Amino acid sequence: MEAKLSMSPIKHQTGREQPESATTSGGSSMEPAMPDKKEKRFQTAFGCSREGLGNRFVYVVISPRARGLSIGINMNPGKDCNFDCAYCEVNRCQRSSEESLDVDIMCVELQKTLELVRSGTIHQQSLFRIAPPGLLKLRHVALSGDGEPTLCPNFSKAVQTVAHIRARSGSFFKMVLITNASGLDSPEVQNGLRYFTRDDEIWAKLDAGSQEYYEKVNQSKVPLEKVLANILFQARQRPLIIQSLFPAINGQAPSPVEIAQYAERLKELKTAGACIPLVQIYSATRPTPHSECGHLPLKILSGIAQTVRETAGLRAEVF
Ligand code: SF4
Repeated sequence: MEAKLSMSPIKHQTGREQPESATTSGGSSMEPAMPDKKEKRFQTAFGCSREGLGNRFVYVVISPRARGLSIGINMNPGKDCNFDCAYCEVNRCQRSSEESLDVDIMCVELQKTLELVRSGTIHQQSLFRIAPPGLLKLRHVALSGDGEPTLCPNFSKAVQTVAHIRARSGSFFKMVLITNASGLDSPEVQNGLRYFTRDDEIWAKLDAGSQEYYEKVNQSKVPLEKVLANILFQARQRPLIIQSLFPAINGQAPSPVEIAQYAERLKELKTAGACIPLVQIYSATRPTPHSECGHLPLKILSGIAQTVRETAGLRAEVF
């Protein structure tokens, strides 16, 4: 079944997203080589190094898609999500130690973490000690975490707080909202996005071009049509980066027909006025609770990126 792009957003539903917990960039093998001890430590820093800072809500990772250091805010520590992606890394069988975001505590942690990064003290953390200096430059502060950030009940207050910290800090950092796009039209999120400038970004998930494949890979009750409408609504107001993860499910890549439909959806978005400066294409690389999910070879990911370029005329990169 094909999902058609609606030109006006459907109002007032909530949604949420996967953490920008980072993967290593596009490998060419289904079975990555075992890293030696030094590489392994670096790969951990490339992933989700949330320990070590003693924080409850603020963490630091080296993100390949950010091309450097990303300070993350766990907007949804209770792991709440309205998607159930086949490749999701979040283990919802394990209870989290935090139920919800405490904005006042996050505020203190963010200021402390920004200072750690700016002073260079973060380089002394064991996970970052061997990372190349170029990767230790702060690229952004990400509104992300263990669940979908737009489901955070105090989303607006959190964004306002980050914006105030930035205004007081004297040096600009970019804010990036990493979302599954299903809640971009909610009043709470709309309020929060008023604090975004043109330099801030939304990174929105789009993993499918048909409702049928969307139900297989994202397993959400929110229709794909609504996700597309929300992406269009936001991308008409500010540049929006598309994040597309294509896993191997039971060893199978998405079909050429599905990839063609996915590229068509992107073309429709662009034709309808969406500003999409980049499509990020990658695969599942980190362990997930779902054993049926694996990594797609670089050749397939490169082919998907090429289809996006040819069909939609958009910039597409493999990570
Ligand atoms: S289920 Fe999907 S959208 Fe939700 S947190 Fe996991 S990866 Fe993100």
